[in-house]
Amino acid sequence: MIEFRAVGKAYPDGTVALQSLSLTAREGQITVLVGPSGCGKTTTLRMVNRMVDPTSGQVLLDGVDVAGSEPSSLRRGIGYVIQNAGLFPHRTVLDNVATIPVLLGRSRHEARTTAAELLERVGLDPRVGSRYPAQLSGGQQQRVGVARALAGDAPVLLMDEPFSAVDPVVRADLQDELLRLQSDLGRTILFVTHDIDEAIRLGDMVAVLRVAGASGATGGRSGANSGLAQFATPAELLSSPADDFVAEFVGRDRGYRRLQFLGAGELALTDLPTDPADGGWVLLLDDDRRPTAWRHGGDGEEVAVGSLHRVDGDGTAGTDGGSLRSALDAALSSPAGRGVAVDADGRLLGGIEAEAVITLLHRSTDAAGASR
Ligand code: ADP
Ligand code: MG
Repeated sequence: MIEFRAVGKAYPDGTVALQSLSLTAREGQITVLVGPSGCGKTTTLRMVNRMVDPTSGQVLLDGVDVAGSEPSSLRRGIGYVIQNAGLFPHRTVLDNVATIPVLLGRSRHEARTTAAELLERVGLDPRVGSRYPAQLSGGQQQRVGVARALAGDAPVLLMDEPFSAVDPVVRADLQDELLRLQSDLGRTILFVTHDIDEAIRLGDMVAVLRVAGASGATGGRSGANSGLAQFATPAELLSSPADDFVAEFVGRDRGYRRLQFLGAGELALTDLPTDPADGGWVLLLDDDRRPTAWRHGGDGEEVAVGSLHRVDGDGTAGTDGGSLRSALDAALSSPAGRGVAVDADGRLLGGIEAEAVITLLHRSTDAAGASR
């Protein structure tokens, strides 16, 4: 657990990077710090491993003020990943990853064995181990950076915009990989990004920060937790932004993104035409009532069913398949203008009208507004 207690930082040149921040990053969770450039994200992160010392307040690691810890021993328990990976250019990939285990006292042979396993774990071909960082793509370098941070078995990981320098497709892969790793490892991760989509994708909790001294919609702010605009789960951030700054930052399309956190349990399903004698689009089913394709009665054109809305059990949010977003995606990707809902075994349950999804969304938006 990482706890920031009224932490502030004024750099020697007078720049106030952070006025007073209080928040707790829970054990085993990914806590994301997100906000515009200059709002103090990097400063906050570096206060955990004492690359920066606060000028007011305290940072506690598992209840102990880090100010009392010797920086180099503190850092052995904390993995650190930065943009462009920060790899040692003159060491091979394998030795980059093995560096920390060697520092921790393992034999070189043992450290290299561990390093090779970690490379595989982050999705790299073990053969890249003998290459030098410059011979790798940006995405591969970031994976090596993550492997290196994991190599020390540190319970805490600090990640400062680790994926910001790679293209969007590779970035999405790296995000998936991190979530997969985290579901195995359960580290306490503090993750910095300026990208709200990344924050929402990765965070168990998301802290939206504003620039110190910036005047938000509610006027100039100072005092307790002035830099923290909101600290909430991704779903909460999307449904109930605390103020105009957060709403603006989260973006105008937040309604669509919020769909993924809403269960489609109440969605009314319609009948779908499955009789080939019908005129328009007809859904073809196999013997087990699993949809195979759409066929148009007019010219016999056949189209794949596209994305299906899978309803497992009660269709509550969280199970990806049961979300309103998958329901809307199914409706919008269907040539018939109606999506296909199936059960956990892939058998037809019914049709989905995009309008019904929108209606449910409005209802839950009204409910969120009323409870504020
Ligand atoms: P972020 O990571 O959110 O972009 P930073 O923590 O890097 O923000 O910086 C916050 C503010 O502190 C910025 O105004 C930045 O220019 C300033 N700052 C960062 N490091 C230093 C430093 N070493 N000396 C003086 N000012 C700094
Ligand atoms: Mg930064």
